[in-house]
Amino acid sequence: MADGPARRREALRAELAEQHLDAVVVAGAANIRYLTGFTGSAAHLVVSAGRTVLVTDFRYAGQAPAEVGREVDVRIERSSLWNGLRQSIGALGIRRLGIDRSRVTLAAWEEFRQVTAVELVPVSGLVERLRVTKDPEEIEAIRDAARLAGEALASVVDFIRPGRTELEVAAELEAALRRRGSEWHPFQSIVAAGPRSALPHARSSERPIGVGEFLVVDFGAQVRGYCSDITRTFVVGARADQRQRDTYGVVREAQTRARGALRAGLTGREGDSLAREVIARAGMGEAFGHSLGHGLGLEVHEDPRLSQTSETPLPAGAVVTVEPGVYFDGWGGVRIEDDLVLVDGGAECLSDGRTDLVELT
Ligand code: ZN
Ligand code: ZN
Repeated sequence: MADGPARRREALRAELAEQHLDAVVVAGAANIRYLTGFTGSAAHLVVSAGRTVLVTDFRYAGQAPAEVGREVDVRIERSSLWNGLRQSIGALGIRRLGIDRSRVTLAAWEEFRQVTAVELVPVSGLVERLRVTKDPEEIEAIRDAARLAGEALASVVDFIRPGRTELEVAAELEAALRRRGSEWHPFQSIVAAGPRSALPHARSSERPIGVGEFLVVDFGAQVRGYCSDITRTFVVGARADQRQRDTYGVVREAQTRARGALRAGLTGREGDSLAREVIARAGMGEAFGHSLGHGLGLEVHEDPRLSQTSETPLPAGAVVTVEPGVYFDGWGGVRIEDDLVLVDGGAECLSDGRTDLVELT
């Protein structure tokens, strides 16, 4: 049986035939890794009906052939990757060439147009659409990344107490992630306390955590290239007060409902509504200003989206986050995020799903 990347290239070729393209230029490290297994950061890829050519530079002369296997031709380019790509395309006798409009720069496009005799056809999302439905080995990698993240957080909760700064907690958590085998941080870890917990994308700061404050921790791990993305909200140094308890309870109920009812076949909007309705009923609709979740894979934000603007049905095998949150300027915020794989008739939680309110007293 063909391995994952070979299978995915066949699926891409079927798409090329459908769109009457002789080949496509694939850009973006995640797309290239998905189609070849190459883990380097600098490369371009051409996939035609019969050939796959990876153009990269001398830093990867040893690594690239070992990672991509014999079906992919590796071209080591010493001047510019675009130059190598142009020559590869010339050698393949391509007439209609798809170029990813969202990943190729205008400068590269113009360079191509000048020197190649091929017809350039702007395409978008060819590979990203294939990536939505995960195969079992991808789901296992995300499951491992989610488990690792949960264990890393559990190992540092004793470190979290009033007086520690957000950055100190972030450093402890990130070290724990790396020690357990996380290849990298999929995004800048968010550790935000007190009023800063009301900033959905806060950067961790030197501000010390105060007694009785909410602490939002949003972070992930990366395993075999695949990301997890988890958020937990704690109360630090005291028991939660009534407003904290009520607010947390609403977000938790919204998240529980979405986790329980999300399934393949719903649209992204219907998925988002599962949580949004609960929050709106509690009178906090205005405070839930972002969408419910996003796809997760080689990148931390990918398709599909669980949002009010997505009418696309969610396929079985998609991995998504479920992360309702409410934010009150000057007071604080709560977000709870887990990672789920969609199956027919339901969804399976890949992260630990521990969403009880935890008071770190
Ligand atoms: Zn997150
Ligand atoms: Zn997320």
